[in-house]
Amino acid sequence: MKRAVIVILDGLRRDLVSAEHTPALAAFRERAEDFTAHRSVFPSATRVVAASFATGCRPARHGLQGNAVALLEHGVFVRHDAGGPEFLQHKRRITGTALDAPTLAERVARAGGAITFSNASPGAAYAHDPDGHGFLYNRAGSFGPGRVPVPAGDELRVPDTLAGDAAMTARFIDEVLTERRPAVATLWLHEPDHLQHELPLGSPAHLAALRQADAHAGLVIAAVDRLRDAGDDVLFAVGSDHGHQTVVGIVDIEAELIAAGLKTGPSSGDVLSVSSGTAALIYVHPDHAARLPALGEFLASRGWAGRVFPPDRLSDVGQAPRGGLAFGVSMRAEDRANEFGVPGLSLEARASDGKPDHLGFGQHGGLGTYEQAPFLMIDGPGFGRGAGRREPTSVVDIAPTVLRHLDLPVEDMDGRPLQRAAAMLQ
Ligand SMILES: [Zn+2]
Repeated sequence: MKRAVIVILDGLRRDLVSAEHTPALAAFRERAEDFTAHRSVFPSATRVVAASFATGCRPARHGLQGNAVALLEHGVFVRHDAGGPEFLQHKRRITGTALDAPTLAERVARAGGAITFSNASPGAAYAHDPDGHGFLYNRAGSFGPGRVPVPAGDELRVPDTLAGDAAMTARFIDEVLTERRPAVATLWLHEPDHLQHELPLGSPAHLAALRQADAHAGLVIAAVDRLRDAGDDVLFAVGSDHGHQTVVGIVDIEAELIAAGLKTGPSSGDVLSVSSGTAALIYVHPDHAARLPALGEFLASRGWAGRVFPPDRLSDVGQAPRGGLAFGVSMRAEDRANEFGVPGLSLEARASDGKPDHLGFGQHGGLGTYEQAPFLMIDGPGFGRGAGRREPTSVVDIAPTVLRHLDLPVEDMDGRPLQRAAAMLQ
C-alpha cells in the first residue's frame, strides 16, 4: 500500500537538529534526504504555515494572511486571532471561503483519505482541513468528513504540552498508522514551539524540551520502519514549520502610527497593524487609500522595520494586496547570538489583544535567518539516503510531494514535487 506519513515538530530550527540535542532526528538524517535550504513562508507563523502545508500554496493563493488578521466585515475592519476554533468558519461566512485553495485532505478524500492529529492552536489545526474532507483531531474538537464531530470517546483530549504530545504520538502510532491506515497521516507536535516562547533559546530547560520532542519523533520513525517491514510503500517526511529567533525588543507599531498622525486613534478603523510575532501586517481601509504613500515612507524610515513590502511588492513574499492588506513588515533581525550562544535576534511587533510579549524568549513570524530555517528530511522512493539537497525548498513543496507519491495529480499549487529520478540518486 502506498501511503504518506508526515511529522512536524513545531518551531524546531534546523541548526538545533544535532546528535547532541536531537539524537533520533540526527540518526534519521543519516538515512533520509536532508533539505539544507528549506524555508518557511511569510509570515513564518504556524497558522499561515499550516494552511500553506495543507494547500501547497503561499498566502496569496490560500488567503490566510497571518496568525492574526483583519477582515473587512460590512465595510469595517474587524481584528481576529486566527488561532481560535471558530475563525476559519467565520472567515468562510465573511469572505466566501475558509481557504481559497483545496487542501491535501480534499485532494486525497477519495484516494485513501487523510487523518491529521495536531496539538497546535485550534485555528492552526483546522487550517489543515477547514471544509471537512478528512479526519482532523485537536483538543478543541475533532471532526470527520462533513465536519461531523467524532464520537466522544474518540476525541483528542490532550493538553498542549510535552505530555500532551506524548499521548497524541502514542495514539497516532497505534490507531492512525497501524489500524486505520489512511493514505496521508499527519502528526503536528506542539513542541518545541510552545516552550520556546517561554524559555531562552539554548537554555538548559529548552535543550531538555528538545530532547523530549525528539523522542516523540523517534517513536514515529520506529513505527514507520515497522510499516515498511510489513510491506507498505511509505513516503516519510519529518520537518518543522519555522524556526525561532530571540526577542530583544518590543515595538508598538500602532502607537507609532498614531504619534505620526497616520492612524487616528487606538480603536480607529482607518489603519491597523496586526502582529504575527516578528512580522506585522498593515491594513489600510479603502476609504483611506490616500494615506498609502505617507505610510510607505514612514515604515521604510523606521529602524525597527527590517524589510517593508508595499502593496506592489507583497507578491515578493507570497502575499497579495487583498482585503485591505497594504504592507508586510518583517521586523529588524540580526544574526548575533543570545546569552546561550544561539544566533538570531529579532524585534517583536506588540500584539494589540493583550497577549504577552516574549522579551528574551523565542518568537517567529518574519524573515530572520533562523525563523526562516525550518528543517525537512524525507525518506522514501525518489529520495537519497544520507544525501543533502542544497536547492531552496519550502513548506509548500510537501503537499505536491505527497501527491506524487500517491500517483495523484499535482495541479494548481505553488510548490512542486521533490522526488528525483532514480538515476539522480546517489
Ligand atoms: Zn509553528
